[in-house]
Amino acid sequence: MDESPDVTSPRALSLLFKKYGLKPRRQLGQNFLIDANIVRKIIKAAEISEDNYIIEIGPGAGALTAALARSDVRLAVLEIDRGLIRLLKDQFKNLPQVKIMERDVLEVEWEEMLIGLAGRNTEVKLISNLPYNISGPFMYNLFREAFPFSKAILMFQKEVAQRLLANPGDSDYGTLSVLSRYYCRGENLFDVSKNVFWPRPKVDSTVIRLTPRSKELSNPEEKLFWEIVQSLFQQRRKTILKRMSIHFNIPRNDLTELLKKAAIIPAARPEELDVNQFAKLARITYNYLNNISER
Ligand code: SAM
Repeated sequence: MDESPDVTSPRALSLLFKKYGLKPRRQLGQNFLIDANIVRKIIKAAEISEDNYIIEIGPGAGALTAALARSDVRLAVLEIDRGLIRLLKDQFKNLPQVKIMERDVLEVEWEEMLIGLAGRNTEVKLISNLPYNISGPFMYNLFREAFPFSKAILMFQKEVAQRLLANPGDSDYGTLSVLSRYYCRGENLFDVSKNVFWPRPKVDSTVIRLTPRSKELSNPEEKLFWEIVQSLFQQRRKTILKRMSIHFNIPRNDLTELLKKAAIIPAARPEELDVNQFAKLARITYNYLNNISER
């Protein structure tokens, strides 16, 4: 391991790519970190302790992986690119605590995988410089599994990070923002210049930290919450009253009453509602649709 090249050095990285006959693949969002300081900041933000289990997505040539391996923690890295898998297996061959897995992360069933890797009672943390082209669908998948990590330190294109952390009224507030606020507490940690990647992407990035929140809704209520949020933001210019009445076919008078109970103005637009209002609306609508008297 000590003889392994420092892949945050652009020269070492390009030599390594040459050795393995690889070229950065834009269609896989391959922009490799070439700044050891940013690597350190990301690892520090994860507050790793030895009994944690770490999942890294898209290890690339191993910039973050090498730093994680130094903290003596068990870790699994999931990479889709077979060429990079070859490179990683060589780089980390002397470190049995690093499990290298060839996977498309969009296909992973997280709960099952995490129990298999880490067991049931281990704190599993997620670290990734995410490929920009899959970050949206990837986050939806995590939320669909109720965010099964104890902490995530994730680097996104700046505008995706802004969407995840947006507040009601912000222009980028939408489905992803509401879901992320329902499942997690999000913090903007720091911005990362496009100049610290090879090859250089067009836009800057942002590193954020997500920690899970306890769930407010039962599973069936939560299902309806997703349906409401997605349906309302599909036509964000329509009022809540209009969109809800079309989507659920609820008589107008009943709907006005439901919205009143949820403390929502019927003429409001979805971008004005915060996550608690969406959650309340889901619970009240669920009760109405299932003839359950108010809790
Ligand atoms: N972690 C490395 C770094 O910071 O230098 C590389 C980050 S690069 C932005 C994203 C990585 O994700 C690439 O290695 C790419 O091959 C990998 N990747 C892209 N799509 C993937 C997918 N669906 N599943 C797993 N890995 C993927």
